[in-house]
Amino acid sequence: RGRLIAVGTGIRIVGQITTEAIAWIRRADRVFTLISDPVADETIRRLNPGGVESLSTFYEDRKPREITYRQMAGRVMECVREGSITCIASYGHPGVFADPVHEAVRRAREEGFPAQILPAISAEDCLFADLGVDPARSGCQSYDATDFLVHGRMIDPSSCLILWQIGAVGEPLFRADGYPLSLLPILVDRLARIHPLGHVGYLYEAPAHLGAGPMIRAVALGSLTGERFSTSSTLYIPPSRPPRPDPDVVARINSMRGQ
Ligand code: SAM
Repeated sequence: RGRLIAVGTGIRIVGQITTEAIAWIRRADRVFTLISDPVADETIRRLNPGGVESLSTFYEDRKPREITYRQMAGRVMECVREGSITCIASYGHPGVFADPVHEAVRRAREEGFPAQILPAISAEDCLFADLGVDPARSGCQSYDATDFLVHGRMIDPSSCLILWQIGAVGEPLFRADGYPLSLLPILVDRLARIHPLGHVGYLYEAPAHLGAGPMIRAVALGSLTGERFSTSSTLYIPPSRPPRPDPDVVARINSMRGQ
């Protein structure tokens, strides 16, 4: 009977893929990959010789991404319906910013097939490590950059903000030759309502290969429009002001301490 299992390779497959993910990649009749790193691609092909198929073939220049994602999920489901143990191996965490994975899992469950997403190391996990950010300290709001703009998300300036996919903000079509990012000035305007424009954020790229270091570029929010982004860029903005404690709650906690 067919089943679907989604595993992640982490951002840096060497060291970050789990033994459980490796076991599923080996065991699967068909492994669909959603990765661009050639080292990760080669590693997966060695784990399951002859059984690997890339889903990247669905990307076409100027094709709306949501169509691509539906087609990817459709191809995965063909295999599940044939009765195959079907694995999706995506980079990072397979359930984090991963529409085709969630769509395939939703369809599989709807049709009565077992489907599971295994946890893995995402870009955000690497960011916490490389930038020394503990989300417990000031909280952390994490959004897709386009979603942040479209939905006017409420942001607390005393909390961290992480904006994913800033290198494709406001871009509905896949573009093989890079994104013009015409909505970037609007993003800067929105950020200016939250933080001073001189407040410094960090453009971050986790290393994909063993021995390489992270790319961390400090940039004042007002200068973001002059920056170069890649499809792997994530923007981290630290708090620009301290939080305002609620005096009643603080008094109650202090009374429990006997103060
Ligand atoms: N599933 C992936 C994960 O768990 O990290 C996320 C995939 S999402 C479609 C792509 C976005 O993830 C990028 O636009 C960027 O924000 C972030 N990302 C991917 N690779 C990254 C890297 N090496 N360093 C920092 N952020 C990265």
